[in-house]
Amino acid sequence: MPRKDNVDLICDIAELAGLFERSSSLEDFLDTATSIIAWHMKAAVCSIYLYEEDTGELVLRATQGLDPAAVGTVRLAPGEGITGLALKELRPICEERGSRNPGFKHIPGIREEEYEAFLAVPILRGLTRVGVLVAQDPQPNYFDENDVKALRAIAGQLATTIENANLLMGIHQAARAPEEEPSRAQPRFLQGKSVSEGLAKGKASIIGMIDDEALRAFDEDPTPRTLDDFHRALQETEDQLAALQQDLEERLSDVASLIFNAHLLILKDAEFSGAVERMIREGTPPQKAVSAIVHRYINLFANSSNPRLREKVLDVKDLGHRLLLNLMSHDPALADYEGRIIIAAELLPSELLKLAAQRAAGIVLLSGSTTSHVAVLARSLRIPAVLIEGALPLEFAEDKPLLLDANQGTLYIEPGDEVLASYDRLIDEQKRIEHLEPQVEPETYSADGVRIRLFANINLLSDIDYALRLKAEGIGLYRSEFPFIVRDNFPSEEEQCRIYSRIVKRLEGASVTLRTLDVGGDKALPYAPSGNEANPFLGLRAIRFSLRNRAIFEQQLRAMLRAGAHHPIRIMFPLISSVDDFVHARSIVQHCIKELDSENIPHNNDPQLGLMVELPSAVEMIEDLSRNADFLSIGTNDLIQHMLAVDRTNEEIADLYVPHHPAVLRALHRIAEAARSAGIDASVCGDIAANPHMLVFLLGCGIRTFSVDARYLPRIQKLVGQTDVRQAHEKTLHALRLTRISDIEDYLAIK
Ligand code: PEP
Ligand code: MG
Repeated sequence: MPRKDNVDLICDIAELAGLFERSSSLEDFLDTATSIIAWHMKAAVCSIYLYEEDTGELVLRATQGLDPAAVGTVRLAPGEGITGLALKELRPICEERGSRNPGFKHIPGIREEEYEAFLAVPILRGLTRVGVLVAQDPQPNYFDENDVKALRAIAGQLATTIENANLLMGIHQAARAPEEEPSRAQPRFLQGKSVSEGLAKGKASIIGMIDDEALRAFDEDPTPRTLDDFHRALQETEDQLAALQQDLEERLSDVASLIFNAHLLILKDAEFSGAVERMIREGTPPQKAVSAIVHRYINLFANSSNPRLREKVLDVKDLGHRLLLNLMSHDPALADYEGRIIIAAELLPSELLKLAAQRAAGIVLLSGSTTSHVAVLARSLRIPAVLIEGALPLEFAEDKPLLLDANQGTLYIEPGDEVLASYDRLIDEQKRIEHLEPQVEPETYSADGVRIRLFANINLLSDIDYALRLKAEGIGLYRSEFPFIVRDNFPSEEEQCRIYSRIVKRLEGASVTLRTLDVGGDKALPYAPSGNEANPFLGLRAIRFSLRNRAIFEQQLRAMLRAGAHHPIRIMFPLISSVDDFVHARSIVQHCIKELDSENIPHNNDPQLGLMVELPSAVEMIEDLSRNADFLSIGTNDLIQHMLAVDRTNEEIADLYVPHHPAVLRALHRIAEAARSAGIDASVCGDIAANPHMLVFLLGCGIRTFSVDARYLPRIQKLVGQTDVRQAHEKTLHALRLTRISDIEDYLAIK
């Protein structure tokens, strides 16, 4: 490798400004700049990413060394990958081996895997983000302090030049005739964020966008059809929907209830079929008649002032499509989304369920967040899903062959044979691993022999099998809200009792913690509008909703108590903010027990009652709460959000959501101590239990029970097995004395 000469390099960058004058375009300038920089740094790769104000993304604009076809297609959000992180944190990042940085993002198809050493420097003009300059090399630890300084100097120089160049190019482009506009490379893949892991291959179905056109296409069908054909199509459609409903009930009984209700209602609505029949009798071809009446219904629903009717527009389109396919004697499977990759601007949880019922292969959401309830549901349904914000490329169309790599958040459009072949191997490997017995023991011990209990958080009944397969010792958190969220109305006491009984029975006496309704925040119930809350996370949610809606709360508690008639159960209240809240909720449980006693209905007379510690006020009152409750469960997702006043769903300030903030560490320790003094169990059910640094800290605090998404169980068991709890305790005590986030990061080797 030739000697690097940074002095030489710094001299040469003075030429970069002049270089622009000799370039024919910004692209040409950036291309030449990357090759000059790569040459002087003796680096195999130099790339320039520019920040786009309107999309808020970094776009690869020039590269020397990576696949040139990636230019214009690779997009990163600030914070995404090492490059995105450099821009977000406005600092250079130099890695010996980029692939070992936890933030490293593998971008498929640009042949980046060959390069280990990674140096990324933000390009800034004042505080304005211009882009990121990246150098890479196959030799690990290739870049040193001098390289960092040199690249910073170049970035400084480039900033003004690029900004000016951008402005100039903008003026030139506006002045140019439209036909002269340079054609944009068609992206071969779109990069987004993983919502629910997995791989899928299939054709595109664009929901809510072109269904209207798809319906109208049937108008052109020349085959003569009769009234009998229409009646046959009605019957076939009804049978198919009933079969789908039944299949869903077998697979997902807790959330399946009446999910195709709206379809069936319209199908059986005499006005609907009557209107079609009338048109056919008057001489309209049946396919035109169905299409016309379906459109009348779509318009009726879409323009209704009732938001619940507006939500049904997709159902009407779906039904119309299915009915028309049956009318024309197409293969009914075509009406399904089976094997399809669904592209949707947004989806309701009930719509996602319908797609799961029809065995859609994957989901691409164009808006929303990775922590939304649709995202949580997709994970529980194990449907690969990604979030790709923004508009679809213009050439994107129904039926395009797609490949969805939801592990990496990538959507390939019309993938080539090479990509398909390598993904086929991955898909096979994934199936093989799924069938292997997981490497996990039924009991968990630390390195020094302390017994630790690992439970699973579940959202749907279908999560239980997976949790038991991964040897969860029980259910530490059942989020009971999903059956409420996907329905059109509150589930009855009977319906709830059936769901809770199935959990309790399936666990065969192992510990089950049922959480009462935690709606509100980002989990709104469409049928129980809570008004326009400016701050829904601080609004009428969780236990507050239950205490304000006592009849609904009692129904749920009665269902839980009945499900626990022959089994131990633990009932847990979310978002408790005072001893009063807890005592009030407990008194309602006692009232329900008395009522069930007097009605002679079998039930659990003595459930353990606990609370989720999720608010600073609960931490401040924790000693008093511990004296009242049978157990505590620390909901760190909310606790961190509320202690630090950082919205957990706001990507813009995600860097401020710091689980190892000294205030959070001290609160966690205080909660563990209070539980220990009161002789009650305190577990952690928030996501930080899956974070290795935090897990060791929590073990050091004396936490002995953890409840997490089941997929983390093997990893956590392994880490616990490598941890000496006494040493962890010493480490925790030291960390608690530190006052600066940065000192804690150094001490716990975070980042
Ligand atoms: C939490 O807040 O940590 C928690 C487990 O509850 P949820 O994620 O359902 O709000
Ligand atoms: Mg919570």
